[in-house]
Amino acid sequence: MKTCIFGGTFDPPHIGHLLIAQTVFESEHFERLIFVPANISPTKKNGDSSSPKTRLKMLEISLINNTNFEISDIEIKREGVSYTVDTLQEFVNSLNLDKKDLFFLMGSDTLRSIHTWKDPEKIMELCNIIVAIRPGFAPSDIPQWILDNVRFANIPRFEVSSTNIRARWREGKTIRYMVPKEVWEYINENELY
Ligand code: ATP
Repeated sequence: MKTCIFGGTFDPPHIGHLLIAQTVFESEHFERLIFVPANISPTKKNGDSSSPKTRLKMLEISLINNTNFEISDIEIKREGVSYTVDTLQEFVNSLNLDKKDLFFLMGSDTLRSIHTWKDPEKIMELCNIIVAIRPGFAPSDIPQWILDNVRFANIPRFEVSSTNIRARWREGKTIRYMVPKEVWEYINENELY
């Protein structure tokens, strides 16, 4: 089954996540796309992120009624720092997937640091990487061996990020249309940021 894994912090999930997931789901003819919220992201270990339970909840309410999308709590259950290579290996084992059927979706900002991740060669061995380009992307920043192993997706480009949304919220600015309405309500009710 042609499967795409979409890892992230999702603090909060926003329209950028949803739109790139939906676009690649269609263009790559995936049979399922699995959002995987990190327990602790290796790049965000300072403890500033919302709890894994909260981020999982926001994903659930974002994806409701979309049967194409699934959510896995594999990284939350594993606890500790979430390394993509471990997650991919777990999916390979539990879903019995070959490389031809396993894809990992990321934004181009994430691609810039992938060579610093735990075992990037193994990641490339286990799956195919699909990259959604974000504004400001310059391929010259990326090592050639990485570029040789990834595919760029043709997606609508616009800059919206969780960091920017949290900052706007704190400043009392609107985040309307940047997150699903239900996520807006959840943030508001739980005084999240
Ligand atoms: P933060 O600002 O907190 O770092 P983020 O908006 O980048 O968050 P993450 O949850 O860290 O969101 O992202 C998960 C994945 O989605 C990453 O690979 C990231 O590059 C990608 N992504 C997020 N927003 C966009 C966007 N607007 N366009 C393309 N890719 C995106």
